[in-house]
Amino acid sequence: MRIILLGPPGVGKGTQAQRLARERGLAAISTGDMLRDHRRRGTRLGREAQRYMDSGALVPDDLILGMVEERFREPDVAAGFVLDGFPRNVEQAKAFDTLVGLRGWMLDRAILLEAPQAAIVERISGRRTCRACDRPYHVKFDPPPAAGRCACGGEIHQREDDREAAVAERARVYERETSPLISYYERVKLLARAPATGTPDAVYAALATLLGGAACAR
Ligand code: AMP
Repeated sequence: MRIILLGPPGVGKGTQAQRLARERGLAAISTGDMLRDHRRRGTRLGREAQRYMDSGALVPDDLILGMVEERFREPDVAAGFVLDGFPRNVEQAKAFDTLVGLRGWMLDRAILLEAPQAAIVERISGRRTCRACDRPYHVKFDPPPAAGRCACGGEIHQREDDREAAVAERARVYERETSPLISYYERVKLLARAPATGTPDAVYAALATLLGGAACAR
């Protein structure tokens, strides 16, 4: 199965991608997580990406595409994948079409997660993330352990780009750059829409119904 999760920042793509990957044996490919990993390791790509990420802007396509092409050379991707945060604009979608086409693969579905703006703002403003492993928490819906440390031992913090000014910029970038992908995938009849309101379990159940096969217990 090869799936793209689409939707505005904070709609819950990362949480659902992780669960889909776990339950269906797919590679979860999150370009945001990959970039944050580069930053932690202090690579050249991480240093170049930093200023774009912190302001809520998109990292230039050539950097992203190089990183994704490299990831696609790893063997786990052949078993299927779920993409979260990529493609982020029409140029990236075209490059992705070429990348999968060269391997003789087909995309199964681009799933648009939809939720009201108020719910998205509440999710982003309450989100806290582990600095070490990127696991997301939420102050209200999935509170981090009291000691402020993740299950992996990493420090829990609020991402720079989850702060108010960057969130507003990310929403603008989504409208301008990413939302045209909705009609891009609609035109090729690959777009599906899933309600992303309610608990992560409820959203996952909707996704499982859409993709076929029951939602198994975690
Ligand atoms: P995310 O974790 O998906 O919200 O991504 C965090 C930040 O990483 C974004 O605001 C961008 O600055 C950058 N980023 C992640 N994925 C991409 C992408 N496919 N293209 C450009 N920038 C990206």
